Amino acid sequence: MTLTHSTERASPKEPPAADAERHYDFIVCGAGTSGCVVAGRLAENPELRVLLIEAGSHDEHDDVMQPGHWPLNLGSARDWNFAGQPNAHVNHRRIPLNMGRVLGGGSSVNVMVWARGHQNDWEDFAAESGDPAWNYASVLEIYKRVEDYIGQPDPARRGQGGPVHVSPARNAQPIAHAMIEAARELGIPSFDNPNGQMMEGRGGAAINDLIVKDGQRHSIYRAYVHPRRHQPNLTVLTDTQVSRVLFEGTRVVGVEALREGRLERYTAQQEVILSLGAVNTPKVLMQSGVGPEDELRRHGIPLVQHLPGVGANHQDHVSFAVIFEYSSPQPVGYGGSEATLYWSSSAALRQPDMFHCQVEFPVPSAENAGLGVPAHGWTMFAGLAHPKSRGRITLSGANVGDAPLIEPNTLSDPDDLRCAYDNIRLVQELGAQRAFRGLVKAESLPGRMSPGALEQYVRNAAVTYWHQSCTAKMGRDAMSVVDSRLQVYGLQGLRIADASVMPHVTSGNTMAPCVVIGERAVQEIRTVHGI
Ligand SMILES: Cc1cc2nc3c(=O)[nH]c(=O)nc-3n(C[C@H](O)[C@H](O)[C@H](O)COP(=O)(O)OP(=O)(O)OC[C@H]3O[C@@H](n4cnc5c(N)ncnc54)[C@H](O)[C@@H]3O)c2cc1C
Repeated sequence: MTLTHSTERASPKEPPAADAERHYDFIVCGAGTSGCVVAGRLAENPELRVLLIEAGSHDEHDDVMQPGHWPLNLGSARDWNFAGQPNAHVNHRRIPLNMGRVLGGGSSVNVMVWARGHQNDWEDFAAESGDPAWNYASVLEIYKRVEDYIGQPDPARRGQGGPVHVSPARNAQPIAHAMIEAARELGIPSFDNPNGQMMEGRGGAAINDLIVKDGQRHSIYRAYVHPRRHQPNLTVLTDTQVSRVLFEGTRVVGVEALREGRLERYTAQQEVILSLGAVNTPKVLMQSGVGPEDELRRHGIPLVQHLPGVGANHQDHVSFAVIFEYSSPQPVGYGGSEATLYWSSSAALRQPDMFHCQVEFPVPSAENAGLGVPAHGWTMFAGLAHPKSRGRITLSGANVGDAPLIEPNTLSDPDDLRCAYDNIRLVQELGAQRAFRGLVKAESLPGRMSPGALEQYVRNAAVTYWHQSCTAKMGRDAMSVVDSRLQVYGLQGLRIADASVMPHVTSGNTMAPCVVIGERAVQEIRTVHGI
């Protein structure tokens, strides 16, 4: 009954399937981080026919598998190549907003950092949704089940034997250890890893946990779906773009997708799960008739369900490069991002407001590249853990080929600019610590600048950590799109499981929280359907 059965290397010449073969129990749209969790877990039950549809292609590519190659995926065929709309707050720049378009989605192109979020991120999810299944204690149990952790044992917080191989960056470079030591000199504590105790308090510095196994990227596709690719109850369709969700009244009956230039229909007897990421999930919802009524009317799309929150509440982590010059050239470790720092500027905050990623080479924005970048150096990305600026996703048209419009509105809230200055100041203080002596010659950028010049630097430096989220948020107010069980309000048989459902972006990188979201969706599906 399979169409293109579990093909990482699906032949584009494969004949279209007969109608009889297009019926499934569950259709998971998008083989990214959350979608792979949902499809892989559902396929554990041999009685269920599961279809996983992915717009991108297979992941057997050196630039996916080799950790150090991750930047080579940017702008490639494995990238949706999105960019924000021009924005006056960042000097009218269009900030690149890359997203994975390949089996594994973001987890196949990202920097591989495993960051589970702060305790209070999850407490907030539980408060917003009114469901303790999202609180820290519940999520901790999920993480313990998910992880195969190869670091310092911490049975209360870390798991072993789960599908996701997580290990601390091996043999981290001297510059990574120097950053942690410098933080200690400043009074910021250091931890064995950034995913245990460190995320239960004010923050700290640590060597990163990475999803690297035997020297190769171990994406969420590799963890959950690849081991099941030969199972007869799991069909993975690559190079197939979901165009619409299909309804009978308000009941979801399947999806329509573009495959080999033709629109095909696939029916779901139980449920459709949208896991297309925080840009394409709202896009496909709106093009299917689910979203703000005025936006749908503007494009002549018949309304199925008015949900004003679809595409709203767009959040992302913004960061600003502070670049230092090495005294002499230094090697780059796995992926080039081995140490991290989270800190709360005030002890009164519920979670860190500062989220810094060290990158072991210089990374200026295109606009700041002419300001004097050293040939050999490293970057501290001074990031905002909880920016207040909010953006949105809207449509450019009603058709599958019409690109979504992304307005991130980066730095539109003045508090974000203030927080950017504080963040940069903290990095400059770090850079001045004894720990860097011998390794670092000087700070290159921004260095000492007048307030006006620094403002220009910041507006030109603003880049994304690629953590777009929150565009179909979970909650109970009028702007919520899904309930705590991730079911879309007002419809039957439609769930969302991806970064869109976050009410607030978590304090760190978003892949691990998306694994939790996938696991939570499966918990609810199993309960509702008794499977
Ligand atoms: C360059 C980069 C670096 C990053 N670094 C890190 C990091 O180091 N650590 C971390 O935690 N997070 C990182 N992230 C973020 C993280 O990868 C994402 O937050 C996470 O993957 C989001 O998961 P998701 O399930 O919401 O969507 P995705 O993983 O983006 O998956 C969505 C999937 O749906 C597919 N799709 C979309 N539309 C359609 C359609 N119409 N039909 C069929 N398929 C479709 C996509 O091709 C994709 O495979 C990074 C992201 C990027 C892009």
